[in-house]
Amino acid sequence: MLKSKTFVKKTRSGGIMKIVREHYLRDDIWCGSEVCTECKQEETVLQKDACIESNLCSFPHYLLPDTNIVLSQIDILEDPLIKNVIILQTVLQEVRHRSAPIYKRLKDILHDKEKHFYTFTNEHHRETYIEREQGESANDRNDRAIRISTKWYSDHLNNTPTDKRLKVVLLTNDRGNKEKAEESGLLTYRCEEYVKSLIANPELVDRLALTNDDKNEITSSKVLFPEHLPLSRIQSGIKSGTFQQGTFRASRDNYLEATVFVHGEGDDSTEVLIQGLQNLNRAVHQDLVAVEILPLNQWVAPSSVVLQDEGPKEDDVTEEEEAELKSGPSGAASRKPTGRVVGIIKRNWRPFCGMLFLSQIKEATRHLFTPADRRIPRIRIETRQAATLAGQRIMVAVDGWPKHSRYPNGHFVRSLGSAGDNETETEVLLLEHDVPHQDFSQAVLSFLPKMPWNITEEDMAVREDLRNLTVCSVDPPGCTDIDDALHCRDLPNGNQEVGVHIADVSHFIRPGNAMDLEAANRGTTVYLTGRRIDMVPELLSSNLCSLRSSVERLAFSCIWEINDKAEIVKTRFTKSVINSKASLTYAEAQMRIDDANMNDDTTKSLRGLNRLAKILKKRRIEKGALTLSSPEVRFHIDSETHDPIDLQTKELKETNSMVEEFMLLANISVAQKIYDEFSECALLRKHPAPPPSNYDILNKAAKSKDLVIHTDSAKALADSLDAAQVDGFPYFNTLLRILATRCMMQAVYFCSGMDSDFHHYGLASPIYTHFTSPIRRYSDIIVHRLLAVAIGADSTYPDLMDKHKQSALCNNLNYRHKMAQYAQRASVAYHTQLFFKSRGILNEEGFILFVRKNAIIVLIPKFGLEGTVFFENKDKPSPKLIFNEEAPSLTVEGHSFNMFDKVKVTISLDASNVQHQKIRMSLVEPVISGVSVAPSEPEVKRAKLDR
Ligand SMILES: [Zn+2]
Repeated sequence: MLKSKTFVKKTRSGGIMKIVREHYLRDDIWCGSEVCTECKQEETVLQKDACIESNLCSFPHYLLPDTNIVLSQIDILEDPLIKNVIILQTVLQEVRHRSAPIYKRLKDILHDKEKHFYTFTNEHHRETYIEREQGESANDRNDRAIRISTKWYSDHLNNTPTDKRLKVVLLTNDRGNKEKAEESGLLTYRCEEYVKSLIANPELVDRLALTNDDKNEITSSKVLFPEHLPLSRIQSGIKSGTFQQGTFRASRDNYLEATVFVHGEGDDSTEVLIQGLQNLNRAVHQDLVAVEILPLNQWVAPSSVVLQDEGPKEDDVTEEEEAELKSGPSGAASRKPTGRVVGIIKRNWRPFCGMLFLSQIKEATRHLFTPADRRIPRIRIETRQAATLAGQRIMVAVDGWPKHSRYPNGHFVRSLGSAGDNETETEVLLLEHDVPHQDFSQAVLSFLPKMPWNITEEDMAVREDLRNLTVCSVDPPGCTDIDDALHCRDLPNGNQEVGVHIADVSHFIRPGNAMDLEAANRGTTVYLTGRRIDMVPELLSSNLCSLRSSVERLAFSCIWEINDKAEIVKTRFTKSVINSKASLTYAEAQMRIDDANMNDDTTKSLRGLNRLAKILKKRRIEKGALTLSSPEVRFHIDSETHDPIDLQTKELKETNSMVEEFMLLANISVAQKIYDEFSECALLRKHPAPPPSNYDILNKAAKSKDLVIHTDSAKALADSLDAAQVDGFPYFNTLLRILATRCMMQAVYFCSGMDSDFHHYGLASPIYTHFTSPIRRYSDIIVHRLLAVAIGADSTYPDLMDKHKQSALCNNLNYRHKMAQYAQRASVAYHTQLFFKSRGILNEEGFILFVRKNAIIVLIPKFGLEGTVFFENKDKPSPKLIFNEEAPSLTVEGHSFNMFDKVKVTISLDASNVQHQKIRMSLVEPVISGVSVAPSEPEVKRAKLDR
């Protein structure tokens, strides 16, 4: 049976296009139920004895949720208790249009065999398909379609000759829909009603999202916040310029402060400062908000106070906190455009990890949840299992933030395990940084090559045989995912041939299949202390793609002819087969180069590479490439307990920079080649020059030592950093470089057709890309595909040449890389805590990196650890503090602290509270009488210069 509909649509160019949409109604759509004898189905999903103990439904039943139930109560649907659910095609489609993340979660449930969720394609079923009636809204039509299908199911299953009558329960919170359903004799409940009826499983109530109807249950009546403007007024305000829209970014250091990034034309964006609870007006980190800029005389400077929301607050006490924020004069010069949030355009809530802060009131069911991310406010939840959840890491979802509530309301989602447990903590870290870390699905794994895998004759026929070359790889110890290998040999004409051979991952991962999509979503491999989360399945990452020694591997090679002055004479690219002669560590390679007795081919090759690399590096630095610094430490992890047993600052050998030079050279050569071939859709990487104001803090630091740092170009910066030396203070230059690193912008991927500025500031290169690490970066896979098409070694596909699709991909890659970096830092911070736990209290020397109004930030070079020493303590009278923002300096009881001053601090782990373990840092030297030192939570920050 065929129904057809004709639409007339205006095309972009203004013409009229006629669309005929054909809609097939089929007779072969089955109900999916085990009890049915009518449908000719081979497999069933919905079980015969679908029993959940409920005091509303004492009979077996299937649930049929409407769209809004799926959207708002996905946590309930995900609970293992909830099984045998019918998801209508109508619902599935609506969910897909309205929320991509929830759609994905729903699809995951549908794939889970344990859950017995069945998709019924009601829109193609002869008896359940309905046409939209005249004057009926799309919404009403869909509600009706859902009722029709519920009715059909009820009747259909009622016909079955079984004594145990099975019923279908429609779940809807929509009053109108519910009334109409009841009129037609359907069994229907509100979600809350139904969940509360599950007497045997009272804990499920905790996972209920508070919907609009019942949100005022746990709030006081006093209005604490201004009303949010309706979307229509926000839209007209933005149009007229009264309001600006932007992303809300809460401050990590100060819970009463945030910045809204207002995106202007092109690269032009302004930051609007928001201060105080009223002005923050219930916006949560990452929300898209509308702000109103305050009149000039109300502009303020960002507070230099480190202010943490220490505990639950009564709903009405806010003035005191605000006063704390505004204390202290601010220089007029540092005032920033200041505004207030007038409305929320789009919430960006996700489930948050954290811990429960138990209410002091006995038998209370309302508790405050403290998120792990300090930028997220505490969340009030209802739970009857608080005693069990205390001491566990849990996930909580936000449901809403009424204007008379100090905190948002939410509900319990699930427990992640005991706090302090290594696995739980890692899980928290991965979830909080949005790192996809589930095992690869069967669909993904199905695209792996069948084992045993061999290079075939067909492979050899289209590749250059480079198996005889003396290729070797040089990596950190323990590296199993070897992306790159090199060779160097003399040519008869006196020049050198250098080859960079990169794992040919794009040979294994074909565009658009499940493995490709998964890798594109993950974007990068994430390296945590003691754990690696692969971007591609291990068979590829550690075996078939890894360029290990003494095995034949497929490679993508970049081969240059280079003269004695390290100038490139010729460049070519080729798909190849190599057989690496040695997998070396940096130290092993260095020893070979240094050992005059060794003269084998591998060593000779290494010496050749090293000699050329030195010239390349010198030339690069002369052109203005930056060599910045950041303290990098590695933990030695006990292989069984996974506890850190030692900590070591990373030592850089000549061979590190040898490999790096050739990787840079390959990346630049490939960038040029793919841009020459595909000027509109080359995937490139750029590093914007920082705006001059970024260097303010660096300039102040230099000025305090009577030095001048020139920042008008990368070259000027590099030169003045080289010259900045202070007698008797050898570490000064390193500190300055650490600070300079903090002034830098993030490097980003972009599509060449969507941008005009390609410059890579840190590398002083006019063009750059990533080609050399396709096992662990998805960007490199795309670059390999582009290069393969450019040299005729592979065929192209539409998405590769679509600059908009590529640009969207770049956005995801940039996001994933940033999150991977943060996750890595958090992992180091966590292991730092474990390390200090086993060490007890330590006295260490450190340097002041930054000065704040009430604290100094101290860097301990030995551990690469950065922490805050507070000079205020809530329980004791504060010492006399004078903050000079211009210097900057902080005078505590007459002693002046300046940037880069040497101090001695005590570092210890405070494990007295399992929920909030923290490293405490307090001042030992200089000794300042009467100064009480408050504990702090250090943060390990390691900005890295992009490569
Ligand atoms: Zn049936």
